Amino acid sequence: MREYLKLYIDGQWVSPSDSKTAEVINPATEEVSGRIALGNVADVDRAVKAASRAFDSWSQTSRKQRIELLESIQAEYAKRKADIGAAITEEMGAPTGLAQGFHVDLGAGHLATAIEILKEFKFEEQRGATLISKDPIGVCALITPWNWPMNQVTVKVFPALATGNTMVLKPPQLASYSAQIFAEVMHAAGVPKGVFNMIHGSGSVVGAALSTHPQVDLVSITGSETVGIEIAKSAANTVKRVCQELGGKSAFIVLDDAKLAENVAGATGGMMVNSGQTCSAGSRLLVPKARMAEAIEAARAAAAAVTVGDPNTAVAMGPVVSKGQYNEIQKYIQIGIDEGAQLIAGGIGRPDGLSKGWFVKPTVFANVRNDMRVAREEIFGPVLVIIGYDNIDDAVAIANDSDFGLAGYVNGADAKACNAVAKRLRTGWVSINGGFDFNAPFGGIKKSGNGREWGEFGFHEYVEIKSLLGFAPAPAA
Ligand code: NAP
Ligand code: MG
Repeated sequence: MREYLKLYIDGQWVSPSDSKTAEVINPATEEVSGRIALGNVADVDRAVKAASRAFDSWSQTSRKQRIELLESIQAEYAKRKADIGAAITEEMGAPTGLAQGFHVDLGAGHLATAIEILKEFKFEEQRGATLISKDPIGVCALITPWNWPMNQVTVKVFPALATGNTMVLKPPQLASYSAQIFAEVMHAAGVPKGVFNMIHGSGSVVGAALSTHPQVDLVSITGSETVGIEIAKSAANTVKRVCQELGGKSAFIVLDDAKLAENVAGATGGMMVNSGQTCSAGSRLLVPKARMAEAIEAARAAAAAVTVGDPNTAVAMGPVVSKGQYNEIQKYIQIGIDEGAQLIAGGIGRPDGLSKGWFVKPTVFANVRNDMRVAREEIFGPVLVIIGYDNIDDAVAIANDSDFGLAGYVNGADAKACNAVAKRLRTGWVSINGGFDFNAPFGGIKKSGNGREWGEFGFHEYVEIKSLLGFAPAPAA
């Protein structure tokens, strides 16, 4: 049993100002795995004030000092990788291989990337007699979701730190364990007091208090559309900057010249990774209409090959995060059936042989129309919909006919044709034939939000542009 009953404020582990705690449930067993502290408004105030005090000195540190700190965090993070991976498996059910692998590696990747960018980042640009300076914003509230918990924490914390900001992290209640260990890493690395603070607790209390606190200058939220809107409204009264990384319903387009079976199998397996709980998942698979039968065969086989079970074993898929998430996904599977989508794999209920734990069957609907709810709404579970298209223009039109605009995928044999389709997608991020890059800015348009994280563009989220007119450059020697 884990007991994480303290909050990290001003460089110390402190008791919350009241003694409320919450149970954490292991989604694979439905049993209580531990307890966490629940911070309140007074704790948020303490943390924000600590961050505000620390800003004066941290914002004035040199590039070299910040690089040294990030390198120290890197060393501590490396020591705790296995602990973080184990925490992720326990809190949100990612299989050990995935948790110890990609989940933990994403955090390490963002850290290494932040260090490289910080070495070169242009904090100042001289234009004529004007100096344009990129200054830290101030106190940042970082509110994160549970689905890729270490990715989301690190993709905010490191750029904020590197650009001279101080911060309060509000991790998700459902993934507080990995955040706790992350805060321990920060402490062990010697992050100066008040620069990084962490408050466990609920969104409605801790998240809301951060979004309204007058001394918070920026809120970065990764989460659902509903919460993103709520935070933007709460933050408006004190004119904070709000960076939103919200949901998606991204299209995965397989072009006619691609090896269809292979690509459909890849897209189906990809959808089931992390139990489908990925904001950028290619959850609408678009294939040439004339080849729907071939696609169905490939998707059915690929879904059947996805092993589901105890995440501490070598399965492809563990449970989904919670009972609430399980029920929501079941609701959508029923909606798909009721709408007349063709169920070709999975369906309602737990996979055979699993009677406990929030396990969902890898589910695929074919012959889906883009106006069906299962094609329009984010299900956030292992449910793929396959939609047929007539020609390239039709594929692009279907892909863009979405309230969301986070990601897109284009696979095909002709690189030029892929690039042309990718350019026409109205999303913030498109992966062509499996492209992946820690330096590529990640974020959405439309209801997927307005933020851009990852790499150098992630640094821009945390800086204010300041003009110093008449700041004449030093005369050339
Ligand atoms: P969520 O329910 O929106 O929660 C996100 C965070 O906001 C949690 O820490 C939550 O706290 C907090 N929160 C809830 N209500 C709040 C309020 N009124 N004020 C301030 N904070 C509040 O999202 P989730 O269920 O954790 O994650 C799934 C969603 O995240 C999906 O929609 C997914 O697409 C999206 N996502 C987007 C990206 C991206 O980069 N675009 C990446 C990953 C996930 P508690 O839950 O702890 O109470
Ligand atoms: Mg939620």
